[in-house]
Amino acid sequence: MPVFALADCNNFYASCERLFRPALQRRPVVVLSNNDGCIIARSNEAKALGIPMGAPLFQWRETLEKHRVVVCSANFSLYGDLSRRVMQVLGHFSPEMEIYSIDEAFLGLDGFRHLHLETYARQIRQTVRQWTGIPVSIGIGPSKTLAKLANAVAKRTPRARGVFDLRGQTVQQAILPRMPVAEVWGVGRKLVPRLQQDGIATAWDLRQRDPAWLQARYSINLARTARELAGEACWQLETQPQPRQQILSSRSFGQRLKTLPPIRQAVAHHVRLAWEKLRSQHSRAGAIAVFLHTSPHAAEPYYGNQYTVELPEPTQDLARLTRLAQRALERIYRKGHAYQKCGVLLLNLQAAGLRQGDLFSPAADTPEREALQATLDAIHQRFGRGSLRLASEGFQTRGWGMQQNHRSPSYTTCWQALPKVG
Ligand SMILES: [Mg+2]
Repeated sequence: MPVFALADCNNFYASCERLFRPALQRRPVVVLSNNDGCIIARSNEAKALGIPMGAPLFQWRETLEKHRVVVCSANFSLYGDLSRRVMQVLGHFSPEMEIYSIDEAFLGLDGFRHLHLETYARQIRQTVRQWTGIPVSIGIGPSKTLAKLANAVAKRTPRARGVFDLRGQTVQQAILPRMPVAEVWGVGRKLVPRLQQDGIATAWDLRQRDPAWLQARYSINLARTARELAGEACWQLETQPQPRQQILSSRSFGQRLKTLPPIRQAVAHHVRLAWEKLRSQHSRAGAIAVFLHTSPHAAEPYYGNQYTVELPEPTQDLARLTRLAQRALERIYRKGHAYQKCGVLLLNLQAAGLRQGDLFSPAADTPEREALQATLDAIHQRFGRGSLRLASEGFQTRGWGMQQNHRSPSYTTCWQALPKVG
């Protein structure tokens, strides 16, 4: 029988913020979404105050001030770098790892069954803590779904001290009847009322149902989930990240924008961010879409539009993609609106190795253009992301950059922001 462990960082963003500011240790901490709009992460102390996930900042200002809650703007370069470090440490403990999200990874522990796995997990947990400063909890199970449930138990049961093993039948019979079905991995919120009507309220209820009946009435995935809860591994580790089918880069502007020039810069910026991802997964884009819209909550009438340009031959040429995006933007921009957000989507992605020539137009990505893209990569690697960019992106962010009033320094990714000791 296979063995899976799920390692999940505790309150990841809040833990990152605390790492370089020990004074935040026992204080409630919340992290805000881009542009400081909503609360997207909370420390345990902040959860205890009843602050919900996704709460709009303005509605909770008073509570936050009253309890002296530390408010942080999202600092994704810090979180991304610490995530990379956590994953690197986890990778020491098993040759099989699936990075599931920024703060979660599944480990395959089949080859370690001769060890006492709870002790091994404690060692993993302690090493991650010691080497990165980030607290993690670890759940162990015979399937991914049970490892995920075990992780939830590890987090909320103080006696577990961050590790819980859900492999034994006895312990499964004790835990599953107390787990609401909504907490089972892969059970969507929308499904819960219907499941309850069918008498399925807990993880145990789901496990007891006949998979064939579940498949007929719900879906094959729910049938698999029930089998996973019974200890049968239906989902394997996905150790190779799947290349994305489409790449999106978008963000709200720091302030509403009316004129075209700053929106042009924002679009050029998003093209570059999307292009970076395109290059890193070795794909070419066969189409590019640009969208632009006003705020759906504003008093003025809403305007939003999108325009897609299809390419006769897929490309990964930054200048070409930027030119097409600007043309698409011109098609959808209308004077007189106060815009809130724009974005760029790369579509019809193909592996860069494949080549489908177009008989009627010359190859777009000539060897010279390819060499240019590689040179750009090399410069970015050496001098930092975006150190060389197209002029259309501009030198300053004129109103379209993010509004972040409580951002912590990028301690680990920027020389100027290194923490100082003494
Ligand atoms: Mg987490």
